[in-house]
Amino acid sequence: MIVVLAALAAASEPPAHVTRWRAQVDWEAAQAETVALLSAYLQVDTRNPPGMEEVGAAFLGARLDAEGIPWALLPHSEGRASLVARLNATNPTAGPLCLVSHLDVVGWEDERWPADRGPLSGVIVDGSIWGRGALDMKGMGALELQTMILLKRLQVPLSRDVVLLALADEEVANVGAREAVDRYWDQIGCSHAINEGGLGVKDAIFDGESVHGVSVAEKGILWVELIATGRAGHGSTPYPGEAPDRLRDAMVAIDRMRARPVFDETMLDLLDAIGRTHGGATGAVLRSPLLVRTLARKKLMNEPATRAILTDTIHLTGVYGAVAPNVVPSEARAMYDCRLRPGTTPGAMLERLREATAHVDGVRFEVISAAESSASPTDDPLFRALVRYAVEGRPTAAAGPLLSVGYTDSMDLRRKGVRAYGYVPFEVTAEDAETMHGHGERVPVSEVGSGLERLFSVVVDVAAAP
Ligand SMILES: [Zn+2]
Repeated sequence: MIVVLAALAAASEPPAHVTRWRAQVDWEAAQAETVALLSAYLQVDTRNPPGMEEVGAAFLGARLDAEGIPWALLPHSEGRASLVARLNATNPTAGPLCLVSHLDVVGWEDERWPADRGPLSGVIVDGSIWGRGALDMKGMGALELQTMILLKRLQVPLSRDVVLLALADEEVANVGAREAVDRYWDQIGCSHAINEGGLGVKDAIFDGESVHGVSVAEKGILWVELIATGRAGHGSTPYPGEAPDRLRDAMVAIDRMRARPVFDETMLDLLDAIGRTHGGATGAVLRSPLLVRTLARKKLMNEPATRAILTDTIHLTGVYGAVAPNVVPSEARAMYDCRLRPGTTPGAMLERLREATAHVDGVRFEVISAAESSASPTDDPLFRALVRYAVEGRPTAAAGPLLSVGYTDSMDLRRKGVRAYGYVPFEVTAEDAETMHGHGERVPVSEVGSGLERLFSVVVDVAAAP
């Protein structure tokens, strides 16, 4: 069991070279510098659409210039570009490690944010830094840049290249990641990557205990439109075979489809880590695959967040087609966002949808987008380091692997055989975590310091010469 190894590693002392390099850092000064960096970065407007990530790249580039770290733009269209920077290994014994972030952020509704701490403010109020991207993911971008800066200033001898990759257009069309992989790979060429995915959440399952998820896989997607066609007519006289009725019948059939929960190694390993931290009878239940499948199943399936991890989801996200109350249109449509666990291909899900609605005449599916789930192994030194430093020295925190329900740029990186792990090294409340893509996004100042220490430790562990 990988988690047993990870737990043992977490309990033992970190390698001597990590202790040595950490002692070289003035952590108070490093935190203050990273907080200032993040505050300024949040004030750079890279909302997507339209993106305009070049200004974000220029911001990071100016900091890299000041430290003498070489970097390059990876342009893809007018005003839009990703950035790559590199610290070379002195004597490489492993493939390059990539520190990945995205430059763009999602948009916002100004009026829903507190007036004195807006999305482009970067201000510090109530012990947190406020702004769109504080968590998703300029915060981590700032930690990654600061880690590069620390490695350079301390002249840490590297056993592998450390690459900073700040990508454009993660939030809308993933063009930055796609171009990085398809067009610019000779400038990147990493074997491993740390990207967004999981993070640490306080009181996640038990009060007073936090859980840090390191995502090792992303669910696949199948976005489809369900299209019903039929007899057009007047609202006054119902006829059989009308499009809206057909749409409803198909939607009811889809709604009746039942997904079975899958308790795979990833979920069992995470529950094992949580159970180990919690202890007692409840901890014992979480550590037993048999008891999880029987006793904990109902609770996990009733919670939307865990249910989404355990099952293939078929999520109705829109219904449209009405013209006027008294007009029966010849066509009506519904939109579905299906998220697929490893093992379920988009084609297999489409087949299930077709079978479930086969008894309804005049309906068909049109695929808008499809991607298969992808995963990286947990049996990897980088994964073990992420787990170790996420919870180092804190007996009330658990860390383990996670299946990420959302799509990230890691999906594109894995096409090149990259082992990509998703972990934003902040520990926040569930309430703070919900501000991602929501209102009042923020990260505690203290977590910028702790997060930097966690990330620096991971990178030194796997990339510094011992
Ligand atoms: Zn993100």
